Amino acid sequence: MTDDEFSKISLDIDLDAEGKQHGTMTIPWSRDESSWGSIPMPLTVIRNGDGPTVLFTGANHGDEYEGPIALTKLRSSLKAKDVRGRVIIVPALNLPAFRAGKRTSPIDDGNMNRAFPGDARGTITDMIAHFVTSRLISRADVVVDIHAGGRSMNLLPMSIIHDLPDEKQMTATLAALKAFGAPYGMILTELDAVGMIDTVVEEAGKVFVSTELGGAATSTVETISVAERGVMNILKHTGVVAGEPDIPEPSKLIHTPTGACFVSARTEGLFEICHDLGAHVEKGDVIARVHYLEDPDRAPTDLIAGVSGQVVCRHMPGLIKRGDCAAVIAEPWPG
Ligand SMILES: [Zn+2]
Repeated sequence: MTDDEFSKISLDIDLDAEGKQHGTMTIPWSRDESSWGSIPMPLTVIRNGDGPTVLFTGANHGDEYEGPIALTKLRSSLKAKDVRGRVIIVPALNLPAFRAGKRTSPIDDGNMNRAFPGDARGTITDMIAHFVTSRLISRADVVVDIHAGGRSMNLLPMSIIHDLPDEKQMTATLAALKAFGAPYGMILTELDAVGMIDTVVEEAGKVFVSTELGGAATSTVETISVAERGVMNILKHTGVVAGEPDIPEPSKLIHTPTGACFVSARTEGLFEICHDLGAHVEKGDVIARVHYLEDPDRAPTDLIAGVSGQVVCRHMPGLIKRGDCAAVIAEPWPG
């Protein structure tokens, strides 16, 4: 997709111009309260001469905060003279969801990371995804999309890539994962990859790195520092900013090779976690329990670890529903 494609979204800056520009993507949003209304969405472009283009996105899901914090700070602090190439910063990709403190958009219930490559004539979420695909991803060499667990999950701080079939692309992507410098580096098998920004960038042959930096609809001193260090490390790794990445310790590489790494609830009830994040569990261990407070005669349901490894993700709310992801167990990556 390219600039020639139709989009209802207008942009008030030139993405290819030199210097630092804070721009606005204006998304038409006609509704009862505002007949000719719109959603002004911020985007910053910093360009200095030729070189790679790095696209950073945050709040793809609106209740994940390390990305918006790190990117809001980066767009203020990064100067054009310190850049070689181009940096495009979208601190909140699903701005309506971010403003509502929700994972998905309150306007159309759109999950941004299931809307790619988007649709210029679709919903607000579809239109944003289409604009990002046709105008921003098309210009980028490297895309970093900063996630956390949102209100329903918490995860160990990790950068994430997928196991890609193209050897050259995989080598470059793995190098970027390591350069990000998070405590953990995950080679993830997605349960539901269709519609993700990840898939669109990877299919275009580019380098894509995602993250999960915590969760529970908030952020911590640690997770913010991992995000801030990570974005700067990617800029140094790509040569867009001078210097070597600051990696306190190499990322511990992990993966989730099979569906058995994901433990789901099959009943609804009171959720008891039995191993905290970071704990090592053996296959067959009880990783969590579901209790039935209103049914004294009913025994709790044990949720069992399907593999041996480290607990890297857990369900956060005190109640759990049938089908919810209760925990994820990762194994050391053999590659
Ligand atoms: Zn997310």
